Amino acid sequence: MHHFHYKDNLLYCEDVPVREVVDAVGTPLYLYSVATLKRHFTAFDSAFDGTPHLTCFAVKACSNIAVLNLFARHGGGADIVSGGELFRALKAGIDSRKIIYSGVGKTVAEMREALLADILMFNVESAQELDRLQQVAAGMATRAPVALRINPDVDPRTHAYISTGLAKNKFGIPVDAALHEYERARDMENIEILGVSCHIGSQLTQVEPFIEALRKVKDFIARLADRGITIRYLDLGGGLGITYDDEQPPDPHEYAQAIREELGDADYTLVLEPGRVIAGNAGILVTEVQYTKVNTGGEEEKRFVIVDAAMNDLARPSLYGAFHEIIPVVQDDRPGQRVDIVGPICETGDFMARDRMLPEVRQGDLLAIMSCGAYGFSMASNYNSRPRAAEVLVGGDCFRVIRMREDYEDLVRGEFVVELDCK
Ligand SMILES: *Cc1c(COP(=O)(O)O)cnc(C)c1O
Repeated sequence: MHHFHYKDNLLYCEDVPVREVVDAVGTPLYLYSVATLKRHFTAFDSAFDGTPHLTCFAVKACSNIAVLNLFARHGGGADIVSGGELFRALKAGIDSRKIIYSGVGKTVAEMREALLADILMFNVESAQELDRLQQVAAGMATRAPVALRINPDVDPRTHAYISTGLAKNKFGIPVDAALHEYERARDMENIEILGVSCHIGSQLTQVEPFIEALRKVKDFIARLADRGITIRYLDLGGGLGITYDDEQPPDPHEYAQAIREELGDADYTLVLEPGRVIAGNAGILVTEVQYTKVNTGGEEEKRFVIVDAAMNDLARPSLYGAFHEIIPVVQDDRPGQRVDIVGPICETGDFMARDRMLPEVRQGDLLAIMSCGAYGFSMASNYNSRPRAAEVLVGGDCFRVIRMREDYEDLVRGEFVVELDCK
């Protein structure tokens, strides 16, 4: 469900014609729908009504402070994985007591910043991280609230690059080792045990792996209880998938229902860290066709559509071979053609879609790459010295730029030409 639709053959985001935003802001352009973001957040969050819970949006999925601020205003928290994301979350107005800090590589400086900000909980992913956190907290004469992230060794049945809950993945602590770490944590002066966490992967399209993970976490919590360790928060991570192509993931209600059933009437607060399911279908990437060309001479004729968006703007197709639906901003009845839609970057991996049937595309046409709201702009880079795209938020019949298109000066900010006359 989203608010991108055709009216009189023109693509609209809510009540704004996409063409109008392009005229004002240019391409490539990320466009987000406020109504869709709000609807997804609310649908997800309210699916857990009746169960004490906290919905912490995974900032890495879509990090713009205007987007984060929308969730803040709806009572949302944040799941962060860096000091930079902490900065963004606070700047966006997210209550620090609703911030969860995940990630395998927290630095001393990042730990300090998060302790100073008084976040809700650190999800600790290794024995060394626990030791470091104890030290940092001791140095600040405070206590660090923690959950240990356990690796439940559950197969999320998703793309290998976004699976995180298997024993072979770098994330979390294996269950038996984690028991030992909890016992160590209990004896640490500056560590306060608050919860248990897990996150098994992203773009999950079935509910079973979540339930399997939850079952393992529950067993684990029982084993902790045997050792006199009680917890207040059970963090199930994120990972619920969306429809990019023909996937049929469970809807938030179904997902919540299954989790609540498995949970029973346990007396801890559930923490959820959805990213993709909230933002994924709430954003599109709009791009302009620069050239079309046909390469002949190989085994078959190959048609290319070269657009002004590239793998630096949207990495998912190159990175995961991900599928994104691509549709024309102006619909007409041109016949279909099979094309590769590629960017200007000097890499064969720089494609948005391969062997895709599209109505005939011509130079100057605008295309909308759908479902780019999560892991779209937030993964963008400046590769090939391409300024990053603008981001625009649409609400009803008006729109606002929420991140200016970068210019050339932005590209070299912080760089210096130097003369090395050192001995
Ligand atoms: C990436 C991530 C999430 C969000 O995953 P989605 O698939 O976008 O819901 C949540 N928690 C952690 C720890 C993550 O690394």
